[in-house]
Amino acid sequence: MATLATRLPNILGDRTAAVLEKSFGITTINELLRHYPRRYVVRGELTDISKLLVDEDVTILAEIEAVKLRRANGKSILEVVVTDGSAKLSLTFFNQAWREKDLKTGRVGLFAGKVGVFNGKRQLSHPDFQLIPDGENVDEAIAEFAGKFLPVYPATSKLPSWKVLQCVKLALDSLEDIPDYLPEEITKQHKYPNLKTAFEEIHQPSDLESAENARQRLTFDEALLLQILLGQRRLEIEGLSTRSRTPNSPFLVAEFEENLPFSYTKGQIEVNKQIELDLSRKFPMHRLLQGEVGSGKTVVALRAMLSVVDSGGQAVLLAPTEVLAQQHFRTINKILGDLAIIGSLGSNEIGIQVELLTGSLPTSKKKEIHTRLANGEIGIVIGTHALISEGVAFSDLGLVVVDEQHRFGVEQRDALKVKAKYPPHLLVMTATPIPRTVAMTVFGDLDISTLRELPSGRVPINTHVVSVLEKPLFLARAWQRVREEVAKGHQVYVVAPRISNPNKKLSEREIAAARLLGEEYLDNEQMVAVEELAPDLATGDLKGLKIAVLHGRQPSDLKEQTMAAFSQGQIDVLIATTVIEVGVDVPNASMMVIMDADRFGVSQLHQLRGRVGRGKVAGLCLLVSNASEESQSMQRLNAVASTLDGFELARIDLEQRKEGDVLGKSQSGGKSHLRLLRVLRDEELIDRAKEMANKILSIDPRLNRLPELRDEIEKLRIDEAARFMDKS
Ligand code: ADP
Ligand code: MG
Repeated sequence: MATLATRLPNILGDRTAAVLEKSFGITTINELLRHYPRRYVVRGELTDISKLLVDEDVTILAEIEAVKLRRANGKSILEVVVTDGSAKLSLTFFNQAWREKDLKTGRVGLFAGKVGVFNGKRQLSHPDFQLIPDGENVDEAIAEFAGKFLPVYPATSKLPSWKVLQCVKLALDSLEDIPDYLPEEITKQHKYPNLKTAFEEIHQPSDLESAENARQRLTFDEALLLQILLGQRRLEIEGLSTRSRTPNSPFLVAEFEENLPFSYTKGQIEVNKQIELDLSRKFPMHRLLQGEVGSGKTVVALRAMLSVVDSGGQAVLLAPTEVLAQQHFRTINKILGDLAIIGSLGSNEIGIQVELLTGSLPTSKKKEIHTRLANGEIGIVIGTHALISEGVAFSDLGLVVVDEQHRFGVEQRDALKVKAKYPPHLLVMTATPIPRTVAMTVFGDLDISTLRELPSGRVPINTHVVSVLEKPLFLARAWQRVREEVAKGHQVYVVAPRISNPNKKLSEREIAAARLLGEEYLDNEQMVAVEELAPDLATGDLKGLKIAVLHGRQPSDLKEQTMAAFSQGQIDVLIATTVIEVGVDVPNASMMVIMDADRFGVSQLHQLRGRVGRGKVAGLCLLVSNASEESQSMQRLNAVASTLDGFELARIDLEQRKEGDVLGKSQSGGKSHLRLLRVLRDEELIDRAKEMANKILSIDPRLNRLPELRDEIEKLRIDEAARFMDKS
C-alpha cells in the first residue's frame, strides 16, 4: 500500500510519472492529489462552449458537427467544427488529413487544448482528443473512468485532463488509510470530511455538495497551515533576543529634526513613536510601513536609522534599483546637510558617515567601504542587492530598512540578517497598498503601520487619457503641452514601455504564415521604445529642448549623471523606461507623458505619475494609448484617470491580476502550497484560520500534542526553505 509520500514512479510507471513531473512538478501521491480539478462536467451534459476563455487550457465534451478538409500553400488543413448544441468551436489540424477517418460528424468526444483566436473566432489548434467509442452510450463510456461528475483538471497538451484523471484514480486506489493532521475538534466543528475522504470527494465526487465541502476543507487547511507557520514565526521573532536601540543622547535625531524644513504629519508622528517603542524592545522589530508615494515614509525611516546610529549601531537602507539607491543617497545627504560626513576616513568630526554601496562601484572603493563597515566607521549605508553579496560585514548592524518590499523576498531579508551580531530590527517600506488579507497572509509575520495622509500643501495631479485611435491629433497637442510646460521652467518625464524593439521585424508574409500555423506572433508586436522615441522627438515635436534618455541597460554612472542633471534642472525632458517608477523625487518635474500606457498595470501607472506634482505646481499626467475606446485596457486607464486613491486602484489592479502576481514569485512557485486559497476572495476563511491558529498556538506553541499537524507545518517550512535555495 502507498502513502502520501510515495513517489509516483512506484505506482504509475516511469513515463507517465516523468510527464507529470515535467508538466506540473508533481512527484509524489500527495502532490498529485493536490492537483485539484478546476471544475466538473456533468455526465450527459456537453460543455458550455460559449463560456470558454481565450488562452485557457480547456477540456470540453462536445459533438462533431462538421468536418472539412482543404489545401492551402501546399498544406492540408483539417477543420472540425464541434458544438454543444448552441455555440460552436473549430478545431484545426495541419497536415493530419488522416484524422478525417476518425473525426466523423455526429461523434462525441473530449477535446483538450488552449483556446486561441483565428479570424476573430475561437478555436483549438491541434487539440488532444479522445472520442467516445462509436455507437456507445456517451454516459456509459464516461462512467467507465469517472462517476457522474467528470473532473476537469489543469492540463497540458502532453497531459490532457483524462490522463490526469486516470493517474489520480490509480493513486487513490493504492492509497492506504492516511492519518489526518487536522485536529478532530476542527473537522467536527466545521463538519469537514477527514483528509482521505476529502481527497476522494474532490477528485471523484459523489455529489457536488460533497465536492464543495471537500474543497472547503482543503482550502481551510491551506489557510490554517499558513497561519500557524506565520504565528510560529512571530513567536520565534519575539523569542529572539537583541539589543534595544534607545539612544541615551539622541544627538543626530535632534539635529535632524531641527533641520527639517517642515513639521511631521500626524501619521508620521504616530509611526515615529511606534518605531521608537519597537526599537526599545529586546526582540527585533518586524514592521511594514505602507503609504502612498510621497506620504513621507523615507523621512520616517531616516529618523529610525539615525536613532539606531545615535545608540551606537549601524543601519542599512536597501533599494530595489541603483537609480533609487543613488537617489536615496542624494536625498539623505541633502536632509542631513552638515551632519553627513562622506568618504572621510577616521574623521573626528561630530556627525555620521553615510555611504552608497552598489554593484557598479570600482572594486577598490567597494573594498574600502567594506572595511569601514566592518570597523564601524560608517553609520548608514545605502545600496542595492550588492550589499548582500559576500564580503560585506558589519561592526554592529542594528537596523535594516527595505524600500519597496514587493521587489524583495523574505529570503533576501534573511540573508542580511545573518550579517549582524544581534538580530537587527527590520523596517520594510512599500508604496503599494496591501489589502488586509494579503497583509495577513503574505506579510503575516510583520506588524503593519500605514501613513494615510499626504503632507499638506501637496498639489493635485490631473490625469487625462489621450486616445490616439479616436483622436490622433491629441498626441501632437500633448507634445505642444510639453513645450509649454518647459517654457514655464518646469521639467517633463516621458515614459515608454520598452528600451528598444526587437531587431527582427516580421514581414507581412511571415506574420500571415505564423497565423496560418496558429503560432504566437504577438511577441513581435512593436511598442513605443525609448531608443526610437527619443531621436524622433528630438528632431520633431520636441526639437530644441534639452532631452536625455534613461533606462536600465545603461551603465550606472551614466544613469547617475543623468538623474543628477535632471534633478539640477539641466535637462528639460527625460525619456525613460519604468526605472523612474519608484521613489524618484524631482519637485520641479510637473508633467509626465506615458506612452502605450495600456502596457502598464494600474498600480504601476499610479506609482509612475506620483513622480510629478511633488513640488508647488500641479502635476499633469497624460496616458497615451492606442487601445480602442471599449477595450478593457481603456477602462483601466480611465479608472486611473478618475481617482488618486491608491487603495482603490490597488483593488482594481488586484482584481485583474492573477493571484500569483499578487503574492510574488516566492509564494506562487509551482510547488506553492496555496492551491485553493484565494487570498483576495477567502477573507472570512482566512480570519477564521488565523483565529484558530492563534488559539492552537496559545496553548501549544510547538504543537507537541498535535504531532501530525506539527509534521505538516515542518514540511511546509522545508518546502519554503528549498524554494529559497533553488533560487539563490
Ligand atoms: P515616500 O518615501 O513615502 O515616497 P518621502 O519621505 O520621500 O515619501 O517624502 C516625499 C517628499 O515629501 C519629500 O520631498 C519629503 O521631503 C517631503 N515630506 C516628507 N514629510 C513631509 C511633511 N511632514 N511635510 C512636508 N513635506 C514632507
Ligand atoms: Mg520613498
